[in-house]
Amino acid sequence: MAETNTMAGQAGETAAPAMHFIRQIIADDLKAGANGGRVHTRFPPEPNGYLHIGHAKAICIDFGMALENNGRCNLRMDDTNPSKEEVEYVESIQEDVKWLGFNWFGDVRYASDYFGACYEYAELLIQAGSAYVCDLNSEEMRAHRGTLTEPGRESPHRNRTAEENLDLFRRMRAGEFPDGVRALRAKIDMNSPNIHMRDPVIYRNLRSSHHRTGDAWCLYPMYDYAHPIEDALEGITHSLCTLEFEIHRPLYDWVLDQIPEFFAAAQKKYSGLPPETPPARPQQREFARLNLTYTIMSKRKLLELVKNGLVNGWDDPRMPTISGMRRRGYTSTAIRNFCEKVGVTKYNSLTDVALLEHCLRDDLNKGACRRMAVLEPLKLVIENYPDGQGEELDAVNSPEDPSAGTRKVPFSKVLYIEKSDFMEVPAKKYFRLAPGAEVRLRYAYFVRCTGVVKDADGQVTEIRCTYDPATRGGDAPDGRKVKGTIHWVSAAHAVDAEVRLYDRLFKVEQPGVTEGVDYRAEMNPDSLKVVTGVKAEPALADAKPGDPLQFERTGYFCADKDSRPGAPVFNRTVTLKDSWTKTAEKS
Ligand code: ATP
Ligand code: MG
Repeated sequence: MAETNTMAGQAGETAAPAMHFIRQIIADDLKAGANGGRVHTRFPPEPNGYLHIGHAKAICIDFGMALENNGRCNLRMDDTNPSKEEVEYVESIQEDVKWLGFNWFGDVRYASDYFGACYEYAELLIQAGSAYVCDLNSEEMRAHRGTLTEPGRESPHRNRTAEENLDLFRRMRAGEFPDGVRALRAKIDMNSPNIHMRDPVIYRNLRSSHHRTGDAWCLYPMYDYAHPIEDALEGITHSLCTLEFEIHRPLYDWVLDQIPEFFAAAQKKYSGLPPETPPARPQQREFARLNLTYTIMSKRKLLELVKNGLVNGWDDPRMPTISGMRRRGYTSTAIRNFCEKVGVTKYNSLTDVALLEHCLRDDLNKGACRRMAVLEPLKLVIENYPDGQGEELDAVNSPEDPSAGTRKVPFSKVLYIEKSDFMEVPAKKYFRLAPGAEVRLRYAYFVRCTGVVKDADGQVTEIRCTYDPATRGGDAPDGRKVKGTIHWVSAAHAVDAEVRLYDRLFKVEQPGVTEGVDYRAEMNPDSLKVVTGVKAEPALADAKPGDPLQFERTGYFCADKDSRPGAPVFNRTVTLKDSWTKTAEKS
């Protein structure tokens, strides 16, 4: 196909795909020649919040399946519900999908674009005797619905004539009745074992302005009714969603099976597909949601965190939102690899957040530029290094990627090292600096500690050393070895930086599930630690937000958008130590 920007995207390098039931279904459909051999999916977020890591799973499946099969994927804002949607969310959703590496087919779609078609179809259902206007209020309707063990009772209005129903429905549309007085119901089966099939409401009056259609409508379709129609109008072949919709599937099918001719014509009008495209009959398929330890994914709760200032906005780097993760330094490759590893199943389960971090480290290890920064500086003076002299040493940017080259790191008589890299009375197996001990300064020289300077309280404020000029950038010519290598920054050249160290936002594995405990009480009070006065090597002065970095021996970092010229701010993306293999072995 020669069209541009119609395919699902070029998501770049991702983990090798494993067979799963949705891949299998699509492969079987293609083999059977269903839908003219087309694969067309959609991702339908409700624009009432920012996308999170759970949505990333759905995005990777929806766009991924299309991409793998030369198909298309639509981005559709599910704005059937009039009150809540906001433009900010619509924009953030598009940005996040693109950042994850995917392109949607044609323009962004809106469920509200199809209000007219949904209404038209409702009139056809009424004329076919498949829908009726019911005057029961919601309480009465609930009482008639029955339970899981008892059948429902038919509404007294169930057998109105098509003429009467059409008249009442048009008057509903014209705004003759207040909200909550009448509803349009599908006429299916009050005895169905599936409660969703017991004459579900498909339209109700609702006086509420819509962010796109304004006050054009005083009645709105219900999601279960509108969603299959939207899919069919867009020519969707595989409507992939999460498990909670499985029980709604018979209704999805019922809606589409009433008047199939309607959809054959409507697809031509709305889908943007070439007119000769054969009509699709979308099939809904359900997969398990992503649940992650130490993480909440309810949009309502995430919104609460933002609104109540418990985090610093939707893109707070501690948030499980795509924008928060991006700001924190996650790469889209890491997220896509994670989604592939999690797999696609029909069983709800809880995924260890350590797997996500493992995928992140795996990608950062390949792509992050190595840099040196000292988080807790302690001064080190090299007594035999000439005053006022300086030199530049070659440092490797990435041991995993020789093409990343090297950089020059300035060296001089006064340096900073980490406080934790010195012990006046060394513990057993402590191979870093201690009085009399020798270590290697990364990329520079061997130094031996000759003494310390202390303040009035007895705290070490300065370390005195001598260096061996013969060890420049390598080993000692006499073959003597050192066990420790430490990082450092030249004091005269250091850039002062702020570093933000993040920990989990919640201190319990499954926040928000314990009866009687508010999830906010389960937040980790130490999820953010701000470290100021960090000494960074000069190359870090103008790090770009999002560029992955490894501060040697300290962790993975990236510059934050709060950085100012000469005053960089860094987010710790993740620590260096991977706990995933250990966890995986345990289980
Ligand atoms: P809410 O928190 O309001 O229930 P939602 O999860 O239904 O929101 P939507 O915006 O409607 O959010 O979701 C868009 C799509 O993303 C849906 O198809 C939904 O099934 C999927 N999705 C949402 N959360 C997850 C998750 N945790 N794992 C996988 N898919 C998800
Ligand atoms: Mg939803």
